[in-house]
Amino acid sequence: MSVVEEVKVKTVRPRRLVEKMPEYHPPLAGRNALRLDFNENTLAPSPRVQERLRQITAEGLTKYPEREPVERQVAKRHGLEPAQVLLTNGVDEAIHLMCCAFLDEGDEALIATPTFFMYDVNIGIFTKGLVKVQADETLEFPFERFLAAITEKTKLIIVASPNNPTGATVSRAQLLAIANAAPQAVMMVDEAYFHFFGETVMDDLADVPNVIVARTFSKAYGLANLRIGMLAGNPELIKYVRKVTSPYNVNGVALDCLSVAIEDQAYLDWYVEQVRTGRERMMEGLAEIGVPFFPSAANFVLMRIGPKHKDLVEAMRRRGVLLRDRSTDPGCDGYVRITVGVEEHVTRGLEALKETLKEIAWEPVRGLGVVTADAEEREFE
Ligand code: PMP
Repeated sequence: MSVVEEVKVKTVRPRRLVEKMPEYHPPLAGRNALRLDFNENTLAPSPRVQERLRQITAEGLTKYPEREPVERQVAKRHGLEPAQVLLTNGVDEAIHLMCCAFLDEGDEALIATPTFFMYDVNIGIFTKGLVKVQADETLEFPFERFLAAITEKTKLIIVASPNNPTGATVSRAQLLAIANAAPQAVMMVDEAYFHFFGETVMDDLADVPNVIVARTFSKAYGLANLRIGMLAGNPELIKYVRKVTSPYNVNGVALDCLSVAIEDQAYLDWYVEQVRTGRERMMEGLAEIGVPFFPSAANFVLMRIGPKHKDLVEAMRRRGVLLRDRSTDPGCDGYVRITVGVEEHVTRGLEALKETLKEIAWEPVRGLGVVTADAEEREFE
């Protein structure tokens, strides 16, 4: 048998779970427009980051990155010990590392849907035991049913607050109740959108040994392209996650930029205020034109468009504004998400939305779910 024939006979198979795991292919092509599709910062990071980038030398690029000094700095900024903090290649990598460190085949992992799809993807690499608790048509976090879904086999729990794609929040009391109800499990609270909300369980880490908080520098800090996130928690748990992490997971350019970005509180406050004000304007604008939406605590708003969701996204793209169709998310048929950015971008987004809805002859869908278009009924305020 020739070598070529032999190769044909013996084909390589991946692990069985890898064959079965879902894939995530975000629509990244052709984004040279107003980006209201990925919940990014729509403008730019702190000017100090640009300044730091200009200081990068060719020789600097030849060096392996050293994560620890910046990890210490980040820990100090958050009032934590260095042993409590791990910097990661975005929260995406943090999710992967959490699964690597804590999930055995056969373990159960618990999430509430709709939520960020990367939980599904990463959990599927390690176990078939993903348990999803679906929100009802209000899209609020299903607290009671979530608690009831915890079993002795539950090993990892992930809850995003604020959640993506809904913008819904889970109260601190509820998060702590979940962690306390599952002492055999590690609970990751994904606070990617924390800055636009303000409530956190970071201050509870000393009292609740099984909670790990994830934060990203992709959103409010505007560093999505540099890929930086962090995990914070009990040193014992963080030690296991660090063990499965590559020493060079965050590159040196990102570390240099992070180090100056976290010292520019004025920039962060400014951007967060832009989003909070813009979010109000966005929700009021939507209420005015009769688009039902889910009241959001994040830098985006989930709109209920109905059967014309695809037409809207396509027509907006033709006007140079990108939105994200969330219709394939569980329980989100007909829903489209719009990112809230700086003032000018909110204005352009809203204007384009008004014109496009007319263009596609959109009419509000009645009787579907209970999402309010009434700006007075927002619960998180
Ligand atoms: N968590 C949630 C809830 C998100 O929505 C996102 C990004 N869309 C992430 C994590 C990933 O963020 P990062 O850019 O840090 O990987």
